[in-house]
Amino acid sequence: MKLFLIAILVLSSCASKKVIKIEAPVVEQKKITKVETKNYVVRPGELVFISFSDLREGNNGKLLCKGKSIPYYRGQNGLEAFVAETYFSKLKGYHCIFKVGKKEHLVAHIEVKDKSFPSERLRVAKKKIFPPKKALIRIRKEQKFLNKNYRSSPKYPLFVKAFKKPLDSFVTSIYGSKRLYNNKKQSQHLGTDYRAAVGTPIYSANSGKVVVGRDLYYTGNTVTLDHGLSIFTIYGHMSKLNVVEGDYVPKGALIGWAGATGRVTGPHLHWGVKVYGNWIEGDSLVDATSWLGE
Ligand SMILES: [Zn+2]
Repeated sequence: MKLFLIAILVLSSCASKKVIKIEAPVVEQKKITKVETKNYVVRPGELVFISFSDLREGNNGKLLCKGKSIPYYRGQNGLEAFVAETYFSKLKGYHCIFKVGKKEHLVAHIEVKDKSFPSERLRVAKKKIFPPKKALIRIRKEQKFLNKNYRSSPKYPLFVKAFKKPLDSFVTSIYGSKRLYNNKKQSQHLGTDYRAAVGTPIYSANSGKVVVGRDLYYTGNTVTLDHGLSIFTIYGHMSKLNVVEGDYVPKGALIGWAGATGRVTGPHLHWGVKVYGNWIEGDSLVDATSWLGE
């Protein structure tokens, strides 16, 4: 709808009264309507929980953050969503817009603050950095299988409680550490490593569906749980698994036992959290859901 503003200026003088009509330039009406815009702060590799007014027409809406469609659902705070900030963030703030038909509601402003990550130097066998040729076929096949699972998460949460760390143990490598292998190859460790002896029981961080329960080249015996909303938790290097693909598990279920399978230097549990394509710090998922309670 076009908006015409007609301003009428009444100029008066001692001698005569003049009425001048000034027509303002045609202004396109702003499509963004402010509906309780809330402010949030997030850091690289973190997750932030957002909520906004439950617009009646919300069922067919689209939540767009940085122009990307984010899964949302109807919860106890209205419409709710988890917004992930990539580890490789450009540290630029952005808006989340809820779009219903042609109407756009500005629901969140997200400020991105900087975060520093430590560096680690590692010495490992050459073949562990650069996988042998025959392993590449296997790795590619496994990646295809994993990607297929990452694309098919339900658009609603499969959990009702807060996430919990899978193990209460010493962290040997924190999320985000920059790793330099043999002074040659640089990478980032986008998960959390917990010290765990072979055979230590590992429990699910929350309820969800087992989408991966098999041996993989890098992470060895691995369990991946789909929690809905494209939120996944990954448990790597286990000695033995206690679940099969297709199972639904409750929170705190025994999913396997720690080990040293896959590309490792010793036994530990690698815990990864993936939220629509972004590897996120596990603690951040625990914090973002803490309001749901144990
Ligand atoms: Zn790890």
